[in-house]
Amino acid sequence: MNIILLGPPGAGKGTQAKRLQDAYGIVQLSTGDMLRAEVTSDSALGRQVKAVMDAGRLVADDILIALIDHRIDRPDCAKGFILDGFPRTVTQAEALDTMLAKKHLKLDAVIAMVVDDAALVTRISGRFTCATCGTGYHDQFKPTKVHDVCDVCGGRDLTRRTDDSASTVAARLKAYHELTKPLLPYYRAHGILHEIDGMADIAAVAAQIDAVLIKAGALPKRARNSKKSVSSR
Ligand code: AMP
Repeated sequence: MNIILLGPPGAGKGTQAKRLQDAYGIVQLSTGDMLRAEVTSDSALGRQVKAVMDAGRLVADDILIALIDHRIDRPDCAKGFILDGFPRTVTQAEALDTMLAKKHLKLDAVIAMVVDDAALVTRISGRFTCATCGTGYHDQFKPTKVHDVCDVCGGRDLTRRTDDSASTVAARLKAYHELTKPLLPYYRAHGILHEIDGMADIAAVAAQIDAVLIKAGALPKRARNSKKSVSSR
């Protein structure tokens, strides 16, 4: 199953994509994470995109299209992928359609998470991540149980994204409204758009996404495992 999680920055795409990766065995492809890894490793690409990312603007379409094109060819995508943060412009969406057709792949669903701008600012300004295991937290909505210690791995290296500052968030929201929102009518016209209420809490959003995916034919790993154990009896 190949899906897109669409939504403004802070909508919760990353949180839901990580959960879907575990629940359905399909891989999360976060272009933001890929670009941040390039910046951290100080690669030529990282040096090229750092200033644009820090300003909250979008990186050039051709860079992102090439990045995703290569990534989808890796064997871990064979069972399916969740695109998180891509496409972000109509040019990227059109390139994705061409790329998938060439690879004999298709999109099963585009899930758009609808969230108010005011809520996004609160969500973004409070979020932080464990640098060791990648678990995401939020000062208000999902604090760590012990102050400054990751609940999952016990790591103490909890980091905040440099582009989560108030001024950069405004630029990122502007880029979303101008360049990414036109993807809603694009995918609606393709008949694969599902809009869900992203204002609900994490579990309620997850339930809405699961309902869409199960209707589209996805089988959670849990259901697959219980099917196997029934048939092997
Ligand atoms: P994200 O983690 O998805 O919020 O992305 C962080 C930053 O990476 C964005 O503000 C952009 O500068 C850049 N970026 C990520 N994905 C894309 C994309 N599909 N197109 C252009 N820029 C992107």
